[in-house]
Amino acid sequence: MSLNHVRPWRDIYRRKSRQIMVGNVPVGGDAPIAVQTMTNTLTTDVAATVAQVQAAAEAGADIVRVSVPDEDSAKALKEIVRESPVPIVADIHFHYRRGIEAAEAGAACLRINPGNIGNEQRVKEVIKAARDHNCSIRIGVNAGSLERHLLEKYGEPCPEAMVESGLEHIRILQDNDFHEFKISVKASDVFLSAAAYQGIAEATDAPIHLGITEAGGLVSGTIKSAIGLGNLLWMGIGDTIRVSLSADPVEEVKVGFEILKSLGLRHRGVNIISCPSCARQGFDVIKTVEALEHRLEHIKTPMSLSIIGCVVNGPGEALMTDVGFTGGGAGSGMVYLAGKASHKMSNDQMIDHIVEEVEKKASELDAAE
Ligand code: SF4
Repeated sequence: MSLNHVRPWRDIYRRKSRQIMVGNVPVGGDAPIAVQTMTNTLTTDVAATVAQVQAAAEAGADIVRVSVPDEDSAKALKEIVRESPVPIVADIHFHYRRGIEAAEAGAACLRINPGNIGNEQRVKEVIKAARDHNCSIRIGVNAGSLERHLLEKYGEPCPEAMVESGLEHIRILQDNDFHEFKISVKASDVFLSAAAYQGIAEATDAPIHLGITEAGGLVSGTIKSAIGLGNLLWMGIGDTIRVSLSADPVEEVKVGFEILKSLGLRHRGVNIISCPSCARQGFDVIKTVEALEHRLEHIKTPMSLSIIGCVVNGPGEALMTDVGFTGGGAGSGMVYLAGKASHKMSNDQMIDHIVEEVEKKASELDAAE
């Protein structure tokens, strides 16, 4: 359950899952829902990949996935893991050797479908490498790459086929006495994804990695992910999430966090509440919010800030935020601290002033922790 029990209409009852470790990050059980992203640099370009991993981690990513398509990438992975501030998941397709090499290189988790890497002996070798190197596994079922026998049985990708695929892969791991795994059942279609995830959530107690695959660009993909992941998270399903966007991984992390913040499931940084602005605004709300979002990116302490154009909604919103600013006309507005009107501030100094007030409040909250 989230921390919202004082307001029962906000409660989310989380599905009970087993907990596994991805490196030092717990996934499942009562662990915070982890935010993931994936690099899109060439893995063999170690410097570029490490820079992207670090930027994603700075934006709040708990775990980052890196593709390992060939032997050189597996070699590069070793250096990437060494430099990374967060656990690295190695993305493996089809080739069992890459899985073994990635485990040896220090990957915290292998994203691999055990049913697709060849005969039983090869599967055993990969599982042994994972076990020997403290590596968990993510089974990643994807509607676009379902096994042929399931497509023949069901006629097309459907929730039942995806769940069956997931359970077949799970069985292989369990038959090898390997239980440190999580599972995803992704599709680019929101309805298919949501139904498949509900099915797999009922069929297993494994931690679930949520994602809407190939969701699209920054705006369309964000909306699709917010609807798909948002609904599932609201139902209590999901232990780790990745928002897939044709955009910078840092954007994926920001969107992932915003989805979790909207549902009260994670809190990080400044939650800005701002009005859309209209003819009544006492200052340029849109430009101010844009500037503040940028200037406050470094704040990691969970806190709230209201930036409201006029007194229609300003004082009311400020009541519920840590810091607030409400436009008041005549070139100045009112600063609110802890919900109370505190002092006036001129519009031309308000951005610097609000940044100072937020930084001060963040230090206070950190000290109180
Ligand atoms: S709070 Fe004021 S400025 Fe903002 S949209 Fe509402 S009426 Fe317009």
